[in-house]
Amino acid sequence: MKKKYIAYTANKKNTLKNSYKKLRINKIPIIKMNQIHSNIIHTITTVPNKILTTIPNTDGLITNLKHVGLAIKFADCMPIIIQAHHYLCILHAGRKGTQTKIVSKAIQHLKTLTQKDNHFHIWLGPHICNTCYEIDPIKKTTFSMLKKTISQLKSELDLSKNKLIINTECTHISPNYHSYRGNNKTKKRNYIICYQH
Ligand SMILES: [Zn+2]
Repeated sequence: MKKKYIAYTANKKNTLKNSYKKLRINKIPIIKMNQIHSNIIHTITTVPNKILTTIPNTDGLITNLKHVGLAIKFADCMPIIIQAHHYLCILHAGRKGTQTKIVSKAIQHLKTLTQKDNHFHIWLGPHICNTCYEIDPIKKTTFSMLKKTISQLKSELDLSKNKLIINTECTHISPNYHSYRGNNKTKKRNYIICYQH
């Protein structure tokens, strides 16, 4: 369950430009997603010939290619990175993606690709916490992406045989992150870009 990837974060403290610059120095092409809050996961099999490629209508990317950057943009939704042996997977998991089980789908896919169900390295990134994510102001119902994500992971994997790292920072509260709910539906986004080395 060793982490074999490098990840960059762009947020209020680090600009996206800065991260792109670092990746460019290392000649890492970047693949980003035109995210639609779906459970669609796209597999990348060839190294892109452009420095920046956008995959339309997807919320997940999987590749076994090294030195190819995969980018997630988020502002309250949960960014997820899964290292499954030679495969790297990124997910953008918001409420809709979580409800349509993007995490279960990704793990199932990775289990098929690797023929393994252990030694996966899973990182759940900063997201809006349960308390801040009220989805019904009358009934005061909240939504926990973390709880739903963990339950999907547990249904697919024995977590004692895999590594799970949770970043519990709330994007709504933390001053470091752009927050769609926290900042008047801002168009600004945080990014995670990672690549296998
Ligand atoms: Zn919160």
